[in-house]
Amino acid sequence: MKAATIIATALLMGCAGARHSTSSELDHAALLAQQGSDAVLWQHASAEAYWLYLQTYEYATSRLESVDQASDAKKQMTDSSGWDRRPLAVVVDIDETVLDNSPYQVNAIRRGRTFDQNDWREWTDMAEAKACPGAQEFLHFAKSTGCEVFYITNRDIREKASTLKNLSDLGFPFADEAHLLLMEGASDKTERRARVAATHRIVLFVGDQLRDFDERFKDRSIRYGRDAVDIMRDSLSQYFILLPNPMYGTWRDAVQGKGTDAEKHARMRLWFEQNGY
Ligand SMILES: [Mg+2]
Repeated sequence: MKAATIIATALLMGCAGARHSTSSELDHAALLAQQGSDAVLWQHASAEAYWLYLQTYEYATSRLESVDQASDAKKQMTDSSGWDRRPLAVVVDIDETVLDNSPYQVNAIRRGRTFDQNDWREWTDMAEAKACPGAQEFLHFAKSTGCEVFYITNRDIREKASTLKNLSDLGFPFADEAHLLLMEGASDKTERRARVAATHRIVLFVGDQLRDFDERFKDRSIRYGRDAVDIMRDSLSQYFILLPNPMYGTWRDAVQGKGTDAEKHARMRLWFEQNGY
């Protein structure tokens, strides 16, 4: 038997074994991880993802150029008392927006594991994530137009030093404590956005999750959140740039829910059963 056939047979036997060991949490983790492998492959290794990032950041740049021109025109037309003198700002998320964590996801699948906080900390402690395509150019362009950049992330406050190191090693602008707002308890970014808006006029948000723009997108109970997109379409069009992330997110949590890997796997199976034709 050829080596490839032996490996394929072993994998199949492993899968068959896993199907009969439904009580094993490890098997559920492996099955869930396996379900995400196409998404991780796409994000990590496809030229399509690469181009989509570049294209989206190109679009973000053109949006910022329009804001810049509009601001200049408004400055000339408005007397000094009527002009909003707050400095301009761009707000970006970090993970899968400016830093690419797909190597962490590849490793998790290789080991048949789902997201694990300790594994994640091991990865972020290394501070070796690469920049997402187009992110550095866009943020340097933002800086050149007079915008400050704020990083609002749900990385934990304990990941501050490694995150700053990773960002500054890659040459990202404003990679300092004043411009990095990490998670201190709640994943809801509303208060942190408000803190930036208190001193700056935010002209653009960039993220890989709709919640990077508005917390109302956490609720996916009605048409998986699509109604909320329709309702907020104007402000999304004006202020929000969305990058692709098929690996994880609120969209998946809405189906998998919380709990053990076994519970999540059971909900996924049920969802596919209920939504096929
Ligand atoms: Mg993100």
